[in-house]
Amino acid sequence: EQDPRIRRIASSIRVVPDFPKKGIMFQDITTLLLDPKAFKDTADLFVERYTGKGISVVAGVEARGFIFGPPIALAIGAKFIPLRKPRKLPGEVISENYVLEYGTDCLQMHVGAVQPGESALVVDDLIATGGTLCAAISLLERAGAEVVECACVIELPELKGREKLNGKPLYILMESH
Ligand code: AMP
Repeated sequence: EQDPRIRRIASSIRVVPDFPKKGIMFQDITTLLLDPKAFKDTADLFVERYTGKGISVVAGVEARGFIFGPPIALAIGAKFIPLRKPRKLPGEVISENYVLEYGTDCLQMHVGAVQPGESALVVDDLIATGGTLCAAISLLERAGAEVVECACVIELPELKGREKLNGKPLYILMESH
């Protein structure tokens, strides 16, 4: 929280209590997107970290990883891979199921989107329990990519999602409580 840009980004995010259900403090990044300087600073902070690191793949998790991932991919000269909810991708896919608080969910990736040995960055807006990022990492690793790091705008540290990543580095701009 040394970088002064992070304060502006943090204050641009709206926190909505009890959405989508009671007890959830929803971190609404759509208000960050309404502040062009905060949005630009967010992308720049990630781009500064990942430029020149040999990353050839940025994988974004549906849906808000599709907002933050592509500006990073374009700026660092990497390809962008959407990791999608089931039955959205038209080509051959590999799937990874993961556990939610109630029930399970699934992420899919197109076969052939990534080549063995490529270096990948996984991007989402927020890490809560870590289940989503864990599934994203698995998809890329099953395809032979090396996931060098996961990047999120926000971490909810109480949920200890970081511990689910099996030591995979996680970079965040801010914690929310
Ligand atoms: P998890 O798999 O538990 O780490 O959940 C992360 C995913 O759920 C991300 O794609 C987030 O966008 C979304 N999410 C979970 N909790 C919140 C929250 N409190 N506010 C906004 N999004 C959330």
